[in-house]
Amino acid sequence: MVSRPPTFCPDCGARLETGTVDNRERKRCPACEDVVWHNPVPCASVAVVDRSGPEPAVLCVERAVPPGVGEWTIPGGHMEVGEEPAAAAVRELEEETGVVVDPDALEICDAAAVPPRNGKHVVTVHYVAAWSDAAGTPTAGSDASAARFFTPAAFDATDEAFRPIHDTWFRAAADRFE
Ligand SMILES: [Zn+2]
Repeated sequence: MVSRPPTFCPDCGARLETGTVDNRERKRCPACEDVVWHNPVPCASVAVVDRSGPEPAVLCVERAVPPGVGEWTIPGGHMEVGEEPAAAAVRELEEETGVVVDPDALEICDAAAVPPRNGKHVVTVHYVAAWSDAAGTPTAGSDASAARFFTPAAFDATDEAFRPIHDTWFRAAADRFE
Protein backbone atom coordinates (compact mmCIF):
# COMPACT_ATOMS: atom_id res chain seq x y z
CA MET A 1 0.00 0.00 0.00
CA VAL A 2 1.27 3.47 -0.90
CA SER A 3 0.01 7.00 -0.18
CA ARG A 4 0.82 8.58 -3.57
CA PRO A 5 0.07 7.26 -7.07
CA PRO A 6 2.79 4.62 -7.63
CA THR A 7 4.94 4.23 -10.76
CA PHE A 8 7.18 1.33 -9.68
CA CYS A 9 6.56 -1.82 -7.61
CA PRO A 10 7.66 -1.20 -3.99
CA ASP A 11 8.72 -4.88 -3.71
CA CYS A 12 10.67 -5.57 -6.94
CA GLY A 13 11.03 -2.18 -8.62
CA ALA A 14 9.33 -3.17 -11.90
CA ARG A 15 7.36 -0.50 -13.75
CA LEU A 16 3.67 -0.91 -12.91
CA GLU A 17 0.87 -1.49 -15.40
CA THR A 18 -2.62 -0.02 -15.23
CA GLY A 19 -5.67 -2.27 -15.07
CA THR A 20 -9.20 -2.39 -13.74
CA VAL A 21 -9.62 -4.24 -10.43
CA ASP A 22 -12.79 -4.07 -8.30
CA ASN A 23 -14.27 -1.49 -10.68
CA ARG A 24 -11.43 0.99 -10.24
CA GLU A 25 -8.32 1.72 -12.24
CA ARG A 26 -5.37 0.31 -10.26
CA LYS A 27 -1.65 -0.24 -10.66
CA ARG A 28 -0.42 -3.84 -10.95
CA CYS A 29 3.09 -5.25 -10.91
CA PRO A 30 3.58 -7.51 -13.98
CA ALA A 31 6.41 -9.41 -12.22
CA CYS A 32 4.79 -9.95 -8.77
CA GLU A 33 1.28 -10.09 -10.29
CA ASP A 34 0.01 -8.07 -7.33
CA VAL A 35 -2.02 -4.86 -7.13
CA VAL A 36 -0.15 -1.97 -5.50
CA TRP A 37 -2.97 -0.41 -3.49
CA HIS A 38 -3.14 3.36 -3.28
CA ASN A 39 -5.06 4.29 -0.12
CA PRO A 40 -5.69 7.39 2.00
CA VAL A 41 -3.52 8.15 5.02
CA PRO A 42 -5.29 8.40 8.40
CA CYS A 43 -4.71 11.58 10.39
CA ALA A 44 -6.11 13.01 13.63
CA SER A 45 -6.47 16.57 14.86
CA VAL A 46 -7.92 18.31 17.91
CA ALA A 47 -9.39 21.78 18.38
CA VAL A 48 -8.98 22.96 21.99
CA VAL A 49 -11.74 25.47 22.76
CA ASP A 50 -11.57 28.14 25.48
CA ARG A 51 -15.07 29.17 26.56
CA SER A 52 -14.00 31.61 29.29
CA GLY A 53 -14.40 34.72 27.10
CA PRO A 54 -17.48 36.28 25.50
CA GLU A 55 -16.87 34.19 22.36
CA PRO A 56 -15.29 30.72 22.12
CA ALA A 57 -11.62 30.78 21.09
CA VAL A 58 -9.82 27.89 19.39
CA LEU A 59 -6.13 26.95 19.73
CA CYS A 60 -4.48 27.19 16.30
CA VAL A 61 -0.94 26.73 14.99
CA GLU A 62 0.93 28.43 12.17
CA ARG A 63 2.81 25.98 9.95
CA ALA A 64 6.59 26.36 9.89
CA VAL A 65 7.27 23.57 7.36
CA PRO A 66 6.02 22.77 3.85
CA PRO A 67 3.41 22.33 2.62
CA GLY A 68 1.59 25.53 3.45
CA VAL A 69 4.25 27.49 5.41
CA GLY A 70 2.56 30.44 7.14
CA GLU A 71 -0.93 28.95 6.91
CA TRP A 72 -2.86 28.32 10.12
CA THR A 73 -4.17 24.89 11.04
CA ILE A 74 -5.85 22.99 13.83
CA PRO A 75 -3.10 20.92 15.53
CA GLY A 76 -2.89 17.40 14.11
CA GLY A 77 -0.97 14.98 11.94
CA HIS A 78 -0.44 11.40 10.82
CA MET A 79 -1.38 8.48 13.04
CA GLU A 80 1.49 6.14 13.91
CA VAL A 81 1.23 2.40 13.36
CA GLY A 82 -0.71 0.85 16.25
CA GLU A 83 -1.81 4.21 17.64
CA GLU A 84 -5.44 5.03 18.52
CA PRO A 85 -6.86 8.11 16.74
CA ALA A 86 -7.43 10.07 19.97
CA ALA A 87 -3.90 9.26 21.17
CA ALA A 88 -2.52 10.51 17.84
CA ALA A 89 -4.49 13.76 18.15
CA VAL A 90 -3.23 14.55 21.67
CA ARG A 91 0.35 13.57 20.77
CA GLU A 92 0.32 15.97 17.81
CA LEU A 93 -1.28 18.66 19.98
CA GLU A 94 1.49 18.37 22.58
CA GLU A 95 4.25 18.28 19.93
CA GLU A 96 2.96 21.39 18.17
CA THR A 97 1.69 23.51 21.10
CA GLY A 98 2.99 22.05 24.39
CA VAL A 99 -0.62 21.69 25.56
CA VAL A 100 -1.56 18.35 27.16
CA VAL A 101 -5.04 16.78 27.12
CA ASP A 102 -6.13 13.29 28.17
CA PRO A 103 -7.35 11.32 25.11
CA ASP A 104 -10.49 10.42 27.10
CA ALA A 105 -11.44 14.13 27.21
CA LEU A 106 -11.76 14.29 23.41
CA GLU A 107 -15.07 14.27 21.53
CA ILE A 108 -15.35 13.53 17.83
CA CYS A 109 -16.36 16.61 15.83
CA ASP A 110 -16.03 15.24 12.31
CA ALA A 111 -14.40 12.51 10.22
CA ALA A 112 -13.74 13.50 6.65
CA ALA A 113 -11.79 12.84 3.47
CA VAL A 114 -9.63 15.87 2.79
CA PRO A 115 -9.25 17.06 -0.84
CA PRO A 116 -6.04 15.47 -2.19
CA ARG A 117 -2.81 17.39 -2.71
CA ASN A 118 -0.25 16.02 -5.19
CA GLY A 119 -2.11 12.72 -5.29
CA LYS A 120 -1.93 12.20 -1.51
CA HIS A 121 -5.32 11.54 0.05
CA VAL A 122 -5.87 12.02 3.77
CA VAL A 123 -8.77 11.04 6.02
CA THR A 124 -8.84 12.99 9.28
CA VAL A 125 -10.65 12.22 12.50
CA HIS A 126 -11.22 15.66 13.92
CA TYR A 127 -11.77 16.04 17.68
CA VAL A 128 -12.69 18.87 20.02
CA ALA A 129 -11.61 19.31 23.63
CA ALA A 130 -12.34 21.90 26.29
CA TRP A 131 -9.48 24.18 27.41
CA SER A 132 -10.65 23.53 30.97
CA ASP A 133 -9.59 19.88 30.46
CA ALA A 134 -6.13 20.90 29.18
CA ALA A 135 -2.84 21.72 30.88
CA GLY A 136 0.14 23.78 29.75
CA THR A 137 0.80 27.10 28.05
CA PRO A 138 0.48 27.30 24.24
CA THR A 139 4.03 27.48 22.83
CA ALA A 140 5.01 26.84 19.22
CA GLY A 141 6.62 23.41 19.03
CA SER A 142 7.66 21.09 16.20
CA ASP A 143 6.47 22.12 12.72
CA ALA A 144 4.88 25.31 14.14
CA SER A 145 6.03 28.95 14.14
CA ALA A 146 3.19 30.17 16.39
CA ALA A 147 0.50 28.69 18.64
CA ARG A 148 -2.35 30.84 19.94
CA PHE A 149 -6.08 31.06 20.50
CA PHE A 150 -8.30 32.86 18.00
CA THR A 151 -12.01 33.60 18.09
CA PRO A 152 -13.51 33.46 14.58
CA ALA A 153 -14.03 37.25 14.70
CA ALA A 154 -10.42 37.86 15.76
CA PHE A 155 -9.11 35.61 13.00
CA ASP A 156 -11.27 37.33 10.39
CA ALA A 157 -9.80 40.69 11.47
CA THR A 158 -6.26 39.54 10.56
CA ASP A 159 -4.57 39.04 7.18
CA GLU A 160 -3.86 35.43 8.15
CA ALA A 161 -5.17 32.42 6.18
CA PHE A 162 -6.12 28.89 7.11
CA ARG A 163 -5.11 25.82 5.22
CA PRO A 164 -8.10 24.50 3.26
CA ILE A 165 -10.56 22.49 5.42
CA HIS A 166 -8.94 23.69 8.67
CA ASP A 167 -10.99 26.88 8.44
CA THR A 168 -14.14 24.74 8.46
CA TRP A 169 -12.97 22.75 11.51
CA PHE A 170 -11.97 25.96 13.31
CA ARG A 171 -15.48 27.42 12.93
CA ALA A 172 -17.22 24.09 13.64
CA ALA A 173 -15.28 23.73 16.90
CA ALA A 174 -16.14 27.30 17.97
CA ASP A 175 -19.84 26.74 17.13
CA ARG A 176 -19.93 23.51 19.09
CA PHE A 177 -18.95 25.21 22.33
CA GLU A 178 -21.05 28.34 21.93
ZN1 LIG B 1 6.80 -6.37 -8.21
